[in-house]
Amino acid sequence: MIVLNKAYLTGKESEYIREALEKQTSGNGVFTKKCHRFFLDKYGFKKTLLTPSCTAALEMAAILLDIRPGDEVIVPSFTFVSTANAFVLRGATVVFADSLSVHPNIDPDALEKHITPRTKAIVVVHYGGVAVDMDKIMDFANRHNLFVVEDAAQAIDAFYKDRPLGSIGHFGCFSFHDTKNIVCGEGGLLVINDARFFPRAEIVWEKGTNRSAFIRGEVDKYGWVDIGSSFLLSEVTAAFLYAQLEEIDSIQNKRREAWHYYWDNLKAFVSEYGVSMPEIPAFATHNAHIFYLICESSEQRDALTKSLKQSGIQAYFHYPPLHLSKFYLQSHRPVSLPNAAKFSEQLVRLPVYAGLTTTDQDFVIAELKKALG
Ligand SMILES: *Cc1c(COP(=O)(O)O)cnc(C)c1O
Repeated sequence: MIVLNKAYLTGKESEYIREALEKQTSGNGVFTKKCHRFFLDKYGFKKTLLTPSCTAALEMAAILLDIRPGDEVIVPSFTFVSTANAFVLRGATVVFADSLSVHPNIDPDALEKHITPRTKAIVVVHYGGVAVDMDKIMDFANRHNLFVVEDAAQAIDAFYKDRPLGSIGHFGCFSFHDTKNIVCGEGGLLVINDARFFPRAEIVWEKGTNRSAFIRGEVDKYGWVDIGSSFLLSEVTAAFLYAQLEEIDSIQNKRREAWHYYWDNLKAFVSEYGVSMPEIPAFATHNAHIFYLICESSEQRDALTKSLKQSGIQAYFHYPPLHLSKFYLQSHRPVSLPNAAKFSEQLVRLPVYAGLTTTDQDFVIAELKKALG
């Protein structure tokens, strides 16, 4: 069986976890600080807070933006549930936007029509770690006075021009879930790029208290000063994460090798069957998070995934578009987002992870040829 994704372990995880068990297991200890320091040194992220998930980081962003009932937030339909749900939890109305025709990412030139006097924020998702055109997004947001949240769940170590993803909008949200490039079981990161939010971010993180300021000795007691929740990552998990971060370059190199092996060996022949390769814009340096193909029809895609499954290869689609979800349609009129629907019907992801062997990849490629032929 060749699985879609497999977490790569560096070997240091259990050692660091044992160290955390001896020192401190609750959050905001030595390993949390080491991780925060790593993100500052490696990517220049000025203010970071580890969270239990990317979902939690998105929820923090929604609280910090003071999203309330009546506010509208523009969100891509082709994404994971949490991108929208975090804002719905605050009472926002989500307004779904379509993908580009050539890429699952949000279409920055088709956003104007979604603007109303109530629009407060836009969320972008860098699908597969491939950057959205952030100059266009920031320009749009500035013209309409909107906040920008980057759902960079899949985008660690990926770039827009020379800027790391997650550092461009007001907030960046990352995931270290088991299915992502860098893992710690369940974990996430909120990156705060606008200094106005720094003090309140720490308070929301610490359950609505000024405990962070107290720990730094800035106040002599701490108490309830705002809303918040339990948004810290345990030190046990932060220790796991730090072992991964230390090896990020080698994990990423392995992953990129696997991605490019598909690229080099598929590009010449898939077009003969009407299948398209991923489009990578010149401004994007991606992180090899996903290798996908776009089939010419849903029938071709479904036949292909079925055939690969019979050969013991996990190849999956992505996502049921949120504008067609049961939850959304319960309370909203249907909208038409043809590109999001198309990717949902025609996209297939191939197994890709650090440590995937070329022998396995050759098998995937051979079975793919058979299935398409
Ligand atoms: C994985 C993912 C999430 C959720 O991440 P968790 O850490 O599991 O909460 C959110 N958005 C996108 C685009 C994702 O891929």
